[in-house]
Formats: sequence, structure tokens, C-alpha cells
Amino acid sequence: MKLLLLGKGGQVGWELQRSLAPLGEVVALDFDSQEFAADFSRPEALAETVLKVRPDVVVNAAAHTAVDKAESEPDVARTLNATSPGVIAQAAQQIGALMVHYSTDYVFDGSGDAPWVEDAATGPLSVYGRTKLEGEQLVAQHCAKHLILRTSWVYAARGGNFAKTMLRLAKERERLTVIDDQFGAPTGAELLADVTAHAIRDTLRDPSKAGLYHTVAGGETSWHGYARFVLEQARAAGVELKAGPDAVDAVPTSAFPTPARRPHNSRLDTRKLQSTFGLILPDWRAGVARMLRESL
Ligand code: NDP
Repeated sequence: MKLLLLGKGGQVGWELQRSLAPLGEVVALDFDSQEFAADFSRPEALAETVLKVRPDVVVNAAAHTAVDKAESEPDVARTLNATSPGVIAQAAQQIGALMVHYSTDYVFDGSGDAPWVEDAATGPLSVYGRTKLEGEQLVAQHCAKHLILRTSWVYAARGGNFAKTMLRLAKERERLTVIDDQFGAPTGAELLADVTAHAIRDTLRDPSKAGLYHTVAGGETSWHGYARFVLEQARAAGVELKAGPDAVDAVPTSAFPTPARRPHNSRLDTRKLQSTFGLILPDWRAGVARMLRESL
């Protein structure tokens, strides 16, 4: 089996390089790859790449993920998040490939407090959310055999992340101030990549499993709860902090104005994924604790 991985250097892309490896030959590309074009600002070149590589599975982990920056460059965000995935989907359909694509909780307006199910009405609040929604619609429309995984609050051990930022700040300052009115589940790139590999295998055997799935770690928290958990873990591991878990002050989103609006309710209902693929999604704390143990 041959798999084409696009966006290999991102948080999820990096972990996919590992999790897809046992499935077959992986052709992994980034926007500056030389052998095959994989720059998402040139959609037509991407179609050519898919047709040349002729994979059984295309996994797209590339995206314009700078949520605030997207507000001032909507055309660039749309090309990367919608037009290019749509073109890749057309090429995948032409060669009968399965296309895997990622989307986001930001397709919802964040109202209420119930976890969103896959067919709940969307209502993105930002350019990022709107372009990601258009992207998932184009993928579903153009490639019958697709897996679209909507996720949230992705972190990875490699590179910077929210937990590492909190740790750094807690070493420098006496008190921290963190938002407590956005709710969701921090989801490890590792978990997402592992679930992707299982879902690919299952869907290739039974194409009726193709579709849209919410894929986040179990449980829920706020950014404030997340920060407190990180500092509790650090303290238990003997890390010296100026600001401990009790020195994290809770504030509303309005205390940190940003160009893009974010949903308050980012809870995603994952029952469809768990029952279709016979998988469980461990509590978010397990993944964050593991990532911290690796980086502390
Ligand atoms: P990253 O930002 O870590 O990775 C995105 C990748 O896309 C990077 O490798 C980036 O390269 C690449 N990229 C950017 N511009 C281009 C371009 N013009 N051509 C080709 N590649 C390009 O994102 P994640 O791994 O976190 O996200 C994976 C998926 O999950 C995305 O679809 C995202 O929308 C979705 N998602 C992410 C969430 C999060 O919290 N991060 C939450 C919900 C969904 P470079 O780094 O060199 O710019």
C-alpha cells in the first residue's frame, strides 16, 4: 500500500510520519519538497502530485492554522484550507484513493454547553473556521471515500505548546491569568495520528465507514483548568515554580481581545468515532501528563 502524506512537518504531520509507517510506503511531503510539489498556495500542482504518486490513501495534515492572522489574509487562508483540499479530493477521487482530512471545533459557533455531534448546525465565528468548514465540505463533495476528523486544542511534544508556555510563565511570574470560559479537550497529535492509522485500515476494509468524525481526547476542561493541571503536574515532578496551581487567576475571554473570535463551547461528541471504529479516546489528562513527563 502507498500513502501520500501532505504537511509532514506540522504537529499532526510529524506524528503521522510515525503512525502511518507500518501501513505501507509513505511519501511524506512539505510545502518546499523538491521531488513532488506540495505547496498549498498552488492547488493545481497538488492535483498533479496526487496523480503522479498514485497513492491508495492521501492524508492531508497541512493547513493555515494561524487563527488570528487568517482574519487579515482571508484569501490565503481560503486557498490553503479550502481550495487546495478540494482539488486534492478531486484527484483522489479520480484514482480511487481514500482521502483523510482534518477539521476543527471552530466550525461551530460555541453556543450552549452540550457536546456538538457531527451533524449539528455549523456557524463559524472566524475566517479560519469558515475556510476550514468550506474545506471539509469540498472534500466530502469531491471524494466519496473520505475520512474527515474534526479535532480541537491540538498539542504536540515537539515544538512550542500551551502547556510549555504556562510552565515558562510560572517560572518567571508570581501569578498567571488564564481564560476560564472556553471549554474543550486538549488533544495530543500522537493520539490523533494513532486514531488516523486505525481508521484508515478499517475504512479500506469497509468503505461504508467513510465519513465525518469528531476526534478529541476524553473529558473536558477550560484553558484555566488546563493551566492548573500543568502546574500541578510540574510541582509534583519537583519543578520549581514561582506561580503554583493556586496562583492561576481565571478571567473571561473578553480580558484578552484577539482579532478572531473563538467558540466558548468547543466540546465535541466522539461517540460516533468510538462506536464505528471500536476505539476509545483516553482522558485528556493522560496525554498531557505523558507529554509533560517527556518534556520536564
Ligand atoms: P500545524 O500548524 O502544526 O501544521 C500545519 C502544517 O501545514 C505545517 O507543517 C505547515 O508548514 C503546513 N503549511 C502551511 N502553509 C503551507 C503551504 N502553503 N503549503 C503546504 N504546507 C503548508 O497544524 P496542526 O498539525 O496542529 O494541524 C493539523 C490539522 O488539524 C489542520 O487541519 C488543522 O486545521 C487541524 N486542527 C488543528 C488544531 C490545533 O489546535 N492546532 C485544532 C483543530 C483542528 P510550516 O510549519 O512550515 O508553515
